[in-house]
Amino acid sequence: MATSVSMIPKIRDGLRATFRSGMTRPIAWRQHQLYQLARMAQNERELICDALKKDLGKPRTEVLMAEVGSIIERAVKSAQQLPEWAKTEYPEVADWQKPWKPTVYKAPRGTVLIVSPWNYPMILSFQPLIGAIAAGCTAVLKPSELVPTFSQLLAEIVPKYLDPNTYRVVNGAVPEISKLLELQWDHIFYTGNGRVARIIASAAAKHLTPLTLELGGKSPVIIDSAYDHDLAAKRILWGKCNNAGQICVAPDYVLVQRDKQDELVRAFQKHYNAFFPEGALDSPSFGSIVSDSHHKRLTSLLSRTKGDVVLQGRVDAARRRLEPTIVKNVAGGDSLLEEELFGPILPIVPVDSLDQAVDFVNARSHPLVLYAFSDKESVKQQLVSETQSGGIIFNDTFQQLAVHELPFAGVGESGYGYQVMKYTYDTFTQLRSSIDMPKEAEPYLAIRYPPHSEEAVKALTAAVHTPIPPSRQ
Ligand code: NAD
Repeated sequence: MATSVSMIPKIRDGLRATFRSGMTRPIAWRQHQLYQLARMAQNERELICDALKKDLGKPRTEVLMAEVGSIIERAVKSAQQLPEWAKTEYPEVADWQKPWKPTVYKAPRGTVLIVSPWNYPMILSFQPLIGAIAAGCTAVLKPSELVPTFSQLLAEIVPKYLDPNTYRVVNGAVPEISKLLELQWDHIFYTGNGRVARIIASAAAKHLTPLTLELGGKSPVIIDSAYDHDLAAKRILWGKCNNAGQICVAPDYVLVQRDKQDELVRAFQKHYNAFFPEGALDSPSFGSIVSDSHHKRLTSLLSRTKGDVVLQGRVDAARRRLEPTIVKNVAGGDSLLEEELFGPILPIVPVDSLDQAVDFVNARSHPLVLYAFSDKESVKQQLVSETQSGGIIFNDTFQQLAVHELPFAGVGESGYGYQVMKYTYDTFTQLRSSIDMPKEAEPYLAIRYPPHSEEAVKALTAAVHTPIPPSRQ
């Protein structure tokens, strides 16, 4: 059920009042909310699995592994690490500045808005919320209208576990989010597509609101011709099949040496048969496409490809099912290279060299992830230095998300701002600088007051003459 539009400003004002009351300041209070969030995920996991089965046909194991389990672990670890993260810092300074007590306070940004998408609606809602809670912010969570059962469930369970004066779920679609975006927030954290990101960024600009944009794009895979193509195919197919390819970090297309293309295709066919002996159409380990319009979008892209379909996925439009479909001999300009696929279609683009693969990637927007399969350190270093992407992952797909300590972010078209654990905490934290000048410093400061003697000018401008070391190229 959508939140009443007229209630939205009142919700924001209420959260503001809570923030100003100082209730979220004590670390122990934040830790309690984080543990409560973990308890919610643990206790309500069956309802969460049921909701995501209904909305997305998402396999239970996937939900427990990639959504519920990750949230519990990250909420608990964030609570445990929070005292360390939140420590006031005293930077190393020159001896003569030490009496000023230079200090960096970790201040919560304030009242923040989190807008999440449908594809991993649990982790993409609570991953940012964990950081907001840890930082001491109050927050509105706006889940996606494309997962209505899940979003409704959140509206019911969140107030049972988290303080309702501090964290609120607002449900709805364009009218509700438009109202949210009219208001001033102290940070907006948006995860979703680049088109809507531009609407969010324009709204944020009106209030100079700081913004995190976690977006997507076409994440390529480059396979070095010397790499084991059978292993590469297994690891790529697994990453592609999670949530039926509806993942921001899904391998979008594969660049393979031309004379290795058929070997790769045979490996994909072999591993597909091993993963789904009866096919993926009715497999409980394979999800559905989120909506009829996305299902239509995918089948339309397939109908227009000029490539050769080598693994023909069966289609069941009524149940929004689409089996993994692999297409070889795809070239620049093909329908499958037009936009982020965000579904179980995998185009293979043959190239004549690694350099050509690099050029192909560099001719397009910066992807969220660049995947590369190679045993050679020189190839890895070439890719690190000659390409740009949010992350660069060698010899696997999707698994990088299991590492809590790595920052997650895009670059260029794939977004900006960092998240996961301490990085999310930092996103919602303002580094508030301070000095506290002692009265006793007055004799040392006397030199700064006008009128300036020649000697004073010399001392005050001494930094101009800082010796610059010779640079080595
Ligand atoms: P979506 O349609 O659920 O939209 C995301 C949010 O934007 C929703 O809460 C929705 O209410 C809101 N929204 C929709 N239309 C709006 C409008 N006109 N004005 C303001 N807000 C609006 O999800 P989506 O965008 O289809 O999500 C898929 C995209 O998200 C893909 O591009 C994917 O790569 C990207 N994604 C990125 C990450 C990441 O962490 N980088 C994670 C998941 C998904």
